[in-house]
Amino acid sequence: MLLSAVDFSHRLLKETVCKGDLVIDATVGNGNDTVLLATLVGPTGKVIGFDIQKQAIENTKQKLLFAGLTDQVTLLHQGHETLPDVLADHPEIGGAIFNLGYMHGTDKTVITQKDTTIHAVSALLPKLRIGSCITLVVYSGHPGGMEEKQALLDYVSGLNQALYKVLQYGFINQINHPPILIAIEKKKTPYMK
Ligand code: SAH
Repeated sequence: MLLSAVDFSHRLLKETVCKGDLVIDATVGNGNDTVLLATLVGPTGKVIGFDIQKQAIENTKQKLLFAGLTDQVTLLHQGHETLPDVLADHPEIGGAIFNLGYMHGTDKTVITQKDTTIHAVSALLPKLRIGSCITLVVYSGHPGGMEEKQALLDYVSGLNQALYKVLQYGFINQINHPPILIAIEKKKTPYMK
């Protein structure tokens, strides 16, 4: 069966995130991805989640409480562009997810932006474990969405193919700009043992 962009991103993370990993939810929104990541890393792992909206942090906190997953999650009410500082003392991450655009049920003008999104992705790439993935679910139907999608596609298309596999996935016969998935996997380089 052909999965939605969101479901396919979850499939990739389920296959690559391990118990005990440190992973990143770059846009927690309503917390669905955070719950998945917290489940995958288990009580010995850690999820660091970012959002610039207080409402998103609150909604996600509630969801984690309900699921009994608060211990392994740190929620930061700040932008993912602060990732270089936050990850300074962490050598490796087991994966990361971005769910771009705006948060359903809130202010549609608070959207992710191309420059900060690309800044965050570029901070994560050197820390990504070999065989692990950064997934980005990219929406383009809202004002500003198409610009972010195009800038991201330009950026990821330029990543060195010797170091990364980059995938674009999405339905091409659906109306209303369905989201696409961009997935980046770190490759084993030839000179590694
Ligand atoms: N479009 C998705 C949900 C996206 S939620 C869907 O349809 O399900 C995107 C979240 O990113 C929002 O909660 C928003 O507040 C958050 N966000 C925007 N800019 C951000 C930034 N620089 N850092 C972290 N989160 C950000």
